[in-house]
Amino acid sequence: MIVLELAVPVPLNKTFYYLPPENLNPKNIVGKRVKAQFGKRTLTAYVISCLDVENTDDLKLKRIIEVEDNDSLITEETVEIANYISKNYVCSLGEALASMIPVSMKLPKRIPKNKIADGEEIRENHILNAQQTNAVNLINKNLKKKIYNAFLLYGITASGKTEVYINAVECALKQNRSTIMLFPEISLTTQFVDIMTKRFGTNIGVWHSGISNVEKYSLFSKAKNGGIKIMIGARSAVFAPFENLGLIIVDEEHERAYKQDKKPSYDAREIAKQRGVYHNAVVVLGSATPSLESYKDAIENKLNLIELSERIHKKDLPEVKVLTSKNGMFQTGVLFSETIEAVSKALSRREQVIVFLNRRGYSPVIMCGKCGSVYQCPKCSISMVFHRNPDMLKCHYCGEIKNLPATCSKCKSKDMTVFGTGTQKVENELKKLFKNAKIFRLDGDTASSKGNYEKAYNGMKNEEYDILIGTQMIAKGFDFPRVSLVCVVDADTSLYLPDFKSVEKTFQLITQVAGRSGRGDMRGVVIVQTSHPQHYAIECAKNHDFVSFYKTEIEERKKLFYPPYCDLAKISIRNKEEKRAEEDSEKLFSFLESTAKTCKLNLKLLGPVSAYIAKINNVYRKYIIIKGDRENILELTRLLEDFKQSSGTFIGIEIMPSDLI
Ligand code: ADP
Ligand code: ZN
Ligand code: ZN
Repeated sequence: MIVLELAVPVPLNKTFYYLPPENLNPKNIVGKRVKAQFGKRTLTAYVISCLDVENTDDLKLKRIIEVEDNDSLITEETVEIANYISKNYVCSLGEALASMIPVSMKLPKRIPKNKIADGEEIRENHILNAQQTNAVNLINKNLKKKIYNAFLLYGITASGKTEVYINAVECALKQNRSTIMLFPEISLTTQFVDIMTKRFGTNIGVWHSGISNVEKYSLFSKAKNGGIKIMIGARSAVFAPFENLGLIIVDEEHERAYKQDKKPSYDAREIAKQRGVYHNAVVVLGSATPSLESYKDAIENKLNLIELSERIHKKDLPEVKVLTSKNGMFQTGVLFSETIEAVSKALSRREQVIVFLNRRGYSPVIMCGKCGSVYQCPKCSISMVFHRNPDMLKCHYCGEIKNLPATCSKCKSKDMTVFGTGTQKVENELKKLFKNAKIFRLDGDTASSKGNYEKAYNGMKNEEYDILIGTQMIAKGFDFPRVSLVCVVDADTSLYLPDFKSVEKTFQLITQVAGRSGRGDMRGVVIVQTSHPQHYAIECAKNHDFVSFYKTEIEERKKLFYPPYCDLAKISIRNKEEKRAEEDSEKLFSFLESTAKTCKLNLKLLGPVSAYIAKINNVYRKYIIIKGDRENILELTRLLEDFKQSSGTFIGIEIMPSDLI
C-alpha cells in the first residue's frame, strides 16, 4: 500500500504518514504542499516521499485532504537543506520547510502575465580595471571548473563590486546556470533590479517581503522549471529552488538582515554555502565592511579573500570630518553650524546631500521637566516616540499610539517636553533652513507606503531631490554620483547598546554611509556629529581603516570570549506574567546547568537576565545566554524539549543570535 511521508510545520521532531487522496497518482504529489488534518487542526504540510508499505490497516492513517500545488517545489536538495536547518537551528523538518517554502504561498487563480522586469537588454559594460579583472578572473575560473568555492569580496565603497557581480552572473548564464543575488534591503533590490534588467533583460525574478503570495508561488515555480535564471531578493530568496544553480552572491554580507531572528534562526550566508556545496557552485560574499567572522575566516583561509582596495578611477575616499559639540554634551535636535554651512555649500553647487540618522520619528523621549520621569509605552518598558503630522506618540515596539500627555502621570506637572532627535525633526529643521531644497525622507515610517523606495531611489538618481534623509535603509549600497556630502547627525545611536556587536555595527554604519559621498566627479565630504570622537569605531571610520578596526575589535572579542571566538545561543523566556517569566527562567537556567553537567558539555551559561527592553506588548522577556562551541550548544538546546515550563511561557531558541538585546 502506498503512503506519503509528510513534514508538518509543528515543533515535533518527526515526520508523519498519510494516505494519498483517492484518484491521484501518489508519485505526483511528492514535493508538493498539501492540506492535512493534524490533531484538530487542518495544516499545510510538505510531502517529502512516497513509500510502499506492506500493511497499514492497523495504523489508521488519515487521508490527505487536498493537494495545494500544481508543480512540486520541493526537490531532493530542499529536503537536504531543510534537514541541515533542522539540525543546526533546532527545529523540526516541517518548521524548516515552512521557512523555505512559505505555507502562505498561493497558486494564482488565473495564470498571471509575466510582470517581471521588461527592460530591453542594453549592454553598457564598463571596461574593468585591474583589480576588478583580477576579481572576475578568480571567481569565473571557479565557476567554469564547477567546483564549490566561497569568496569574500572585500571592496571599499565605490570600488565597483557590482560590476564584478555582473560579470560573474554573465559567466554563470553562459554555462546555463542560475544565480541568486541577495540584498539586505528592499531599497537596494530596487537599484540592482534596475541595473540587472538593463544588462540581462527579462530573465530575472524579484523576491522580497513586499510581493504577494501569488507572486511568490509564481517566482518559485519559474525558478524550479527554468522560467527565470536570476533571482534577486532579500534573505529568503536564498531558497529559490533552482536546479542548476551556479552562483550565489550575498551583497553587504555583514548585514544582520541575513539572519532570521525567529525560529529557525538560520543565516542566509550559511545556507548559501550549503547550497554552494550541493551544486558545486560559487558563493561570493561582498562588503566594504566585512563582518568580523567572515574577515577572520578569510585570514584563516576558510574563505578566499579578494580585495578591491581602490575606488573606481582611483578616486579618493571622502574626507571625513568628525564634529563634537563644544561642551562635550550631545545637544538635542541640532545640526551643528559647520554641518549647516556644508549643506548650504553643496546645495549652492547643485550637488546632492544625504543626511543620516538611525532613529525615526520626531523625538525619541517625552520627559517631565519637573520630576524627570519618562513617558513610557503602557505595554512596553520603553519610551514612546513623538511623531509629527499628525502629532502623536508611537511605540516602535508594539505599535501603540497615544496622544501627547498634558500632564505628567507621576507629579501632574504640565511641564512635559520632548527630547532628542529623530529623522522627522531633522527634516523639519532642514526644510526651515533650506526653503527651496527638495527633501525626501526614507525611514520605517515612509517606507511602509508602497513605492516610496522607488521614489527615493529614482528621485535621487534623476536629481529631482536635493537632500535624502533617512535611517539605515539609506546607509549602504546606493550609488548616486551627485552626492558630495553625507551628514551623520548622531553617530552614537548604537555605540553603547549593551550588545557585543554594537561597536562593530556603529563602525559599519558610519563607513557605509560615508561611502555614499563623492562617488561621481566631485570629491566627497562626510560630516560625523558625535559625542565620542575618540572612540576607535569613529576614528577608524574617519580614516577608512577597516583593518585597524578589525584588529582592535577582534582583540576585544577574544578578551571577552564572544564570537567569533565562541558560538552562542540565546534562549528567550517570555510570559505575560512577570513572576512566571522570572520563575521559569530561573528553573530553566538550573535545568540547563545540570543537563550540561550530566552530559559533560563544556559550556558557559549566563543569566537569566531581563532583556534590554524587559517588556514588549505586555510580555515579559528574559534571556539565558549559552557560550561554547556549536556542537555542544546544539546538543544542549535539543534537550530543551524535556523541560516543562508553566503554562503561558514561551521558550525561544536562537542559535548564533545577531544580538543579545
Ligand atoms: P561598490 O558596490 O563597490 O560601492 P559600485 O559597484 O556601485 O561600487 O560602483 C561604483 C560606480 O562606479 C558605479 O557608478 C559604477 O557604474 C561605476 N563603475 C564600476 N566599474 C567601473 C569601471 N570599470 N569603469 C568605470 N566605471 C565603473
Ligand atoms: Zn513629573
Ligand atoms: Zn509598546
